[in-house]
Amino acid sequence: MKIAILGCGVAGLSAARTLRQQGIDTILFDKSRGVGGRMSTRYAGVWEFDHGAQFFTVQDPNFQLEIDAALKSGVAAPWDAKALYLGEGEVSPDKGRDRYVGQPRMNSLPKYWAKDFDVRLGKRVTQVQREDSWNLGFEDGTSASGFDGVISTLPPAQAALLLPAEFAASRDVHAAQMHVCFCLMVGLDAPLDLGWDSLRVKNLPIDWIAINSAKPGRARTNGAVVVHSEAAWSDAHVDADRDWIQNVMLDSASALLKRPLHNAPHIALHRWLYASNKTSPNTPCFKDKGYVVAGDWCLGGRVQGAWLSGRAAAQSFL
Ligand SMILES: Cc1cc2nc3c(=O)[nH]c(=O)nc-3n(C[C@H](O)[C@H](O)[C@H](O)COP(=O)(O)OP(=O)(O)OC[C@H]3O[C@@H](n4cnc5c(N)ncnc54)[C@H](O)[C@@H]3O)c2cc1C
Repeated sequence: MKIAILGCGVAGLSAARTLRQQGIDTILFDKSRGVGGRMSTRYAGVWEFDHGAQFFTVQDPNFQLEIDAALKSGVAAPWDAKALYLGEGEVSPDKGRDRYVGQPRMNSLPKYWAKDFDVRLGKRVTQVQREDSWNLGFEDGTSASGFDGVISTLPPAQAALLLPAEFAASRDVHAAQMHVCFCLMVGLDAPLDLGWDSLRVKNLPIDWIAINSAKPGRARTNGAVVVHSEAAWSDAHVDADRDWIQNVMLDSASALLKRPLHNAPHIALHRWLYASNKTSPNTPCFKDKGYVVAGDWCLGGRVQGAWLSGRAAAQSFL
C-alpha cells in the first residue's frame, strides 16, 4: 500500500507516522518550503519567532506518549511561562494545563517527526483524480500517480478545492470555517525582561503577546516579541491595508508593554488566512472510497486536535 498525504503539518506527520508503524509507505506533499505547517518558526537575522502555534497542551494519553518521546529527545520542552491574563482592567495569572513548546524552536518538533519520511516540498496540489489508482497534479505542471489512497490535511477552504466529485462529506468540509490571524513580529536589540512571558488580553485588536526569546532553548540576547491579533477583529480586517494593521497592533502592544515598539530594529507582519477554528465538525476525519479528509479543524483545532485527526485518518486505512 502507498498513501499520498497532502500537507506536512502536525496532522500529515501524525498520519504518516501511524501508517509507518503498520508498514505502510507514504509520500507527503506540501506547498511550503519547510515542514510543520502552522507549527512554524520565522527567521529574521538574529531573531526567531514562533509565528504560528505558541505552545500546546496535552490531554490525550496517546498524544502524551508521543510528547514524552519528544521531550526525551530534547525537541520539545515544558514552557513554565510566567503567564498573565488582563481582563476587565485586572491582571491575574493565566491558568491552564501544562504548556509545551518545540525546542529550540517550534518547528523543531515537526522537523523531528518528518525525519526519514519521503517529503516533497514546494508541491502545491491542484488536482486529485481517481482512475485505477489515485493521481495528483501539481501547480508546477508535474504529477504523481499510483497511490492506493489519499489523506488531505489541508485547512477546510483549501481541502474543499480538491475534493473528489460526490465526496460523501462534502457539505461538512464546505461548512467548516476558520478565523484569520495577523502575527506581528518585533525584534529588539537588547534582552527583554518584563516580569512576564505571555499576556492574554481582552477587548483589544490584539489578544496575545509572547516574549518568544523567553521560551526554553531560545537565544535571549535580542528580545523577540510575538503579537497576535484578535479573531473577530482579524476577520473584519482581513483585506485591510497591511501598514494600518501593523500600526494598530504596534499601538496596542506598545501600550501593554509600556514602551514604544514603532522604531524597533525589526518589525514584520504575517497574515494567517486559516489560523483557528470558527466552527468544527468535531469528527476525527471524513473518509469516502480511499480519500480521507483530516486536519486540526476536524477536531476543534490546535496541535493536539491535528495530531489526533491525522492519526484517525491513518487508522481508517488499517
Ligand atoms: C497564529 C496561530 C496561533 C496558534 N496558536 C496555537 C496554540 O497556542 N496552541 C495550539 O495548540 N495550536 C495553536 N495554533 C493552531 C495549530 O498551529 C494548528 O492546530 C496545527 O498546527 C494544525 O496542523 P494541521 O496539520 O492540521 O494543519 P497545517 O499546519 O495548516 O498543515 C496543513 C499544510 O497543508 C499545506 N497545504 C495547504 N494547501 C496545500 C496544497 N494545495 N498543496 C499542498 N500543500 C498544501 C500547508 O502548507 C500546510 O503545511 C495556532 C495557529 C496559528 C496560525
